[in-house]
Amino acid sequence: MNNSKKLIIAIDGFSSCGKSTVAKDLAKKLNYIYIDSGAMYRAITLFCLNNNLIKENNIDESKLKSLINKIKISFKYNTKTGEAETFLNGNNVEDEIRNVEVSENVSPISKIKFVRKNLVKQQQNLGKNKAIVMDGRDIGTTVFPKADIKIFMTADVDVRAERRYKELTQKGLNVSLEEIKENIKKRDHLDQNREISPLRKADDAIILDNSYLTPSEQLSWILDKIEQKTLNFKL
Ligand code: C5P
Repeated sequence: MNNSKKLIIAIDGFSSCGKSTVAKDLAKKLNYIYIDSGAMYRAITLFCLNNNLIKENNIDESKLKSLINKIKISFKYNTKTGEAETFLNGNNVEDEIRNVEVSENVSPISKIKFVRKNLVKQQQNLGKNKAIVMDGRDIGTTVFPKADIKIFMTADVDVRAERRYKELTQKGLNVSLEEIKENIKKRDHLDQNREISPLRKADDAIILDNSYLTPSEQLSWILDKIEQKTLNFKL
């Protein structure tokens, strides 16, 4: 694809519907950077868990607020895997942020106003040079409302649970399909119903239901949409 214009590509959607797979593939194909914004919310959640800021489902928001500027999240490229990994205050937390405890606590953390404000600012900074693919829940609505391409992904909840189950059990995690499905449904509900930047499709986003599409079919579908859009840019 002859893409001289540097684009901002926003990929939002429901939990575990393969956003990161397609976003990574797309970034590789276009030679863009890829940012997993969910990893940033997960890293803050891990910080809270490690520092006892969450007790019996209660978050110590004032303590978190006093510490938030000390939480440094970064991404480093792993040359062996060819993928970016998440670092929290200098430590590689890429695997840890995917565990069940973090998944259980991330949506309550991500609805806190100062957490969102802090991360949205960092995300906007990461995209200031464009040529970026970012996935999340509010990328097309809040982080980059003027993104060049906006995709909203969805898939059948059973398909999503199966995929996530496979991914986590392959990594050796001891989880059940039922608990994964419940977590996905719970997160979708919390993410859609929170007060600040809830998960919703931007008016100008294109819907991609990938229940029965392979990753390569999804990539072709998106490349096709980009081709159409960029042709329009050139007109
Ligand atoms: O994408 P992932 O499932 O890893 O995101 C974890 C959680 O982080 C989501 O369930 C949501 O609560 C939160 N999130 C968010 N806004 C984003 C990305 C993720 O609120 N842009």
